Amino acid sequence: CGIVGYIGQQDAKEILLRGLEKLEYRGYDSAGIALLNEEGLHLFKEKGRIATLREQVDENVKATVGIGHTRWATHGEPSRVNAHPHQDSSKRFTLVHNGVIENYEHIKREYLSDVDFVSATDTEVVVELIARFVLQENMTVSEAFRTALMKLKGSYALALIDNEDPEHLYVAKNKSPLLVGLGDGFNVVASDSMAMLQVTDRFVELMDEEVVLVSRESVTIKNIHGEEMEREPFTAELDA
Ligand code: GLU
Repeated sequence: CGIVGYIGQQDAKEILLRGLEKLEYRGYDSAGIALLNEEGLHLFKEKGRIATLREQVDENVKATVGIGHTRWATHGEPSRVNAHPHQDSSKRFTLVHNGVIENYEHIKREYLSDVDFVSATDTEVVVELIARFVLQENMTVSEAFRTALMKLKGSYALALIDNEDPEHLYVAKNKSPLLVGLGDGFNVVASDSMAMLQVTDRFVELMDEEVVLVSRESVTIKNIHGEEMEREPFTAELDA
């Protein structure tokens, strides 16, 4: 239902949790965050309120990269296992998703019949598919992401972390809202500018099926064919 992401210099966990709290009014049944640091990926997710998630998050984990999600279940009951973020079976990739992948059963049968899925979500199929293209077909993560999008039918806003690349977040959308927020030495991702107005009011709108590479210093937008796109930021205003 809601997505946030952060890559910068500050404590990602606090920015992500606050961002998710700003999205609470939209409704959700579970929430989670993933934080990446030198020790690896730290995953926290819970059924229920963000306050419950907050209690579970280890205060000692310091990270400057992360993604977060509030879920409104469409595939699989509300539960901890079905809550996002979801990881592929190698645990290298971690994904949050808003929306519905209409052909996820087809993708499972066609490309991923050997995978033991942990959750009942349509989302886990997407992270496995991206991982498959990287690990077995030697694609770059951007290529794998774009190739996966070509196979997907439905609506999605996606944000991905690659454990082997702590310098980037990968995001994409189709028929679901997603924005990149611009900062000084950091950048953010949000399904709604409301979630990140506390850290920036400058946002870049994404078009359907673009894949965006977000680092601390730059935002690179490519269309599904890999061609780089230019986009002017806009200033978001808080409704009084
Ligand atoms: N379809 C996904 C799920 O059921 C995402 C739902 C959402 O947008 O929160 O987990």
